[in-house]
Amino acid sequence: MVDLYEYIVDVPDFPEKGVVFKDITPLLASREAFLQSVDEMAEPFISLAVDIVVGIESRGFLLAGSVAERIGAGVGLVRKPGKLPRTTVSVTYDLEYGTDTLEIHADAFDDGARVLIVDDVLATGGTLAASNDLIVKAGGIVVGATMLVELSFLDGRSRFDGLLHAVLTY
Ligand code: AMP
Repeated sequence: MVDLYEYIVDVPDFPEKGVVFKDITPLLASREAFLQSVDEMAEPFISLAVDIVVGIESRGFLLAGSVAERIGAGVGLVRKPGKLPRTTVSVTYDLEYGTDTLEIHADAFDDGARVLIVDDVLATGGTLAASNDLIVKAGGIVVGATMLVELSFLDGRSRFDGLLHAVLTY
């Protein structure tokens, strides 16, 4: 076992002043740290009959495939607007300044499919809440969400009702 915290690098004032960006690329680059991370992200969901693991663009994609492989599920994509080629459903949500939109293919899964959400960092929880709404809109049942990093001081957790797991907490 390695200490995964040693593989996360804090970058102050990126992408804007006042934000401490959690750079996960050293963790992704390490065979031991990456495999341990996806094992720990997947573990609580292995026996929950998940059909599809949905990764959130773009760092969520890097983790979702490996988590899906571990729990025996398929993979789905939540993307920024205009990236998905066929009919989509979309959700627009508020940011500190302005709004953002996320999309998923309208036929991404069968009605009643059991869905696990994957992303790299849970911050304010806006992205997670929007992804949850999107998946419900597309006919899925959200089983839970698994994150590599949770910034608990921002309390994003309070915006999500399901089972929420984070490997690293700040
Ligand atoms: P939020 O909607 O505020 O929970 O933000 C979550 C999304 O923004 C995730 O997809 C993260 O990749 C990204 N994000 C937000 N804050 C950070 C941070 N401090 N470091 C790295 N990524 C972040």
